[in-house]
Amino acid sequence: ELILFWHRRDLRINDNVGLSQAYQQTSRVVGVFCLDPYILESDQIAPARVKYLLGCLERLQESYQRVGSDLLVLQADPVTMIPHLALTLNAQAVFWNQDVEPYGMKRDRAVTTSLQEQGIKTQTFWDQLLHAPGEILTKGEAPYKVYTPFWKNWQQQEKAQPVGNITQLSGLTFQEQEKVNQMGRIAVPTLAELGITWENELPLEPGYVAAKAKLEQFSDRAIADYDQNRNYPAVDGTSILSAALKFGVIGIREVWETTELAWENTRSDEARHSIQAWRQELAWREFYQHALYFFPELADGPYRREFQNFPWDNNQQHFQAWCEGKTGYPIVDAAMRQLNITGWMHNRCRMIVASFLTKDLIINWQWGERYFMQTLFDGDLAANNGGWQWSASSGMDPKPLRIFNPASQAQKFDPDAEYIRYWLPELSSLETEELLTGNFSPLERESLDYPQPIVDHKQQQREFKRRYQEQKERD
Ligand code: FAD
Repeated sequence: ELILFWHRRDLRINDNVGLSQAYQQTSRVVGVFCLDPYILESDQIAPARVKYLLGCLERLQESYQRVGSDLLVLQADPVTMIPHLALTLNAQAVFWNQDVEPYGMKRDRAVTTSLQEQGIKTQTFWDQLLHAPGEILTKGEAPYKVYTPFWKNWQQQEKAQPVGNITQLSGLTFQEQEKVNQMGRIAVPTLAELGITWENELPLEPGYVAAKAKLEQFSDRAIADYDQNRNYPAVDGTSILSAALKFGVIGIREVWETTELAWENTRSDEARHSIQAWRQELAWREFYQHALYFFPELADGPYRREFQNFPWDNNQQHFQAWCEGKTGYPIVDAAMRQLNITGWMHNRCRMIVASFLTKDLIINWQWGERYFMQTLFDGDLAANNGGWQWSASSGMDPKPLRIFNPASQAQKFDPDAEYIRYWLPELSSLETEELLTGNFSPLERESLDYPQPIVDHKQQQREFKRRYQEQKERD
């Protein structure tokens, strides 16, 4: 009996719910991953993310081979390829872990129908979340629209232990291997083979081993000070596990168990408070995934009515300057350079640049959302859309309007301008206060080859509020 296990955002063999269920039924389990042309050809592809993904696929293939089986990689539309492969290999069933994204859910329904038409069984599981959509509901059995009560409920629910690891599998026979080769099985392609370039180092090495090492390093050290450090972009105070969590390179139950160990290993209230603060971020991740699952319309636009048909300026030149880190606002430009160079941006800075794009440049947040998807190595529809709707004040968040002042954000969270100096070395000769406030002369800007501010914060803030008020009254 052969079970085909279809990997998507669960690129590991440890602590994998669906895979371990397949393993309990038979040891003949073969993994498959489809490089979906629809996704590869979309304009929401980030080179750093694809590089991370390909590296993770290589590591996953090695993991399969180590336990005696294999990961089949195909560049094809899964809706046709998965049923075709299952039929060719005479598989008893195809198993996979479920997704929350509208495209993924639609694709999975199509694959299910096609497999069932051919008499091949399917079984699906929830793996990527500690609590699946539907497990955390209000007293009236409705999905939460507000984070804080969601978190209160979520944290009280018991969390599952990691599921058993895979130790031994058997894979395809020689004849079966021949068949899959004929079907277009490929080696994991290189980035260049996909026509994509990314030369910089990734914020996190691909694969389970690197993610696990990062998690351990974080939980041994930084987690205890997370609450004090997490808002300071110059401090290495967060886990940088976002891409590993996005692609399921490490299991979420294993991550949770590590926080429990860290909790047990300390008696300090402060450290425990920090561990809890980090768990709250894991809960944000789950909150946004539940939100997308229950309200898929979030992916297509603003949730709040005030923001439908909002009179955005959508100035192309301003948008370009924002993308390139040339707005003339040092904290914004430093953050955009970090994003463009590393594929990752600190959370505090994501909030600052998102507020700046929407409230200072009065540009549709969906432009920023798309640019983030085109650049972030951890780009993830649910988290990214959630973050942008939150920053734009267009989402489910009850707070009416949130406007960040770039200078006071910098003063508060980069008080020595360390982060700004690091990413904008051309400004390093300036005084800290000048870097934080952006108060230095037009002449100085010119001599340092640094742009003049493209807009005036105070003026734009007034203008944004005026338009927002008008929209509200119109409704
Ligand atoms: P840590 O601080 O170590 O947090 C641990 C994990 O919790 C993260 O790896 C992530 O999985 C999750 N997490 C943390 N904060 C959030 C949050 N606010 N929402 C959802 N999950 C969270 N995160 C993404 O993973 N992908 C995105 O595309 C993304 N886009 C964002 C866009 C905007 C405008 C904003 C404001 C935030 C966005 N975030 C996104 C959330 C957050 O900025 C990143 O998860 C975080 O910076 C990743 O760094 P880390 O792994 O060191 O996080």
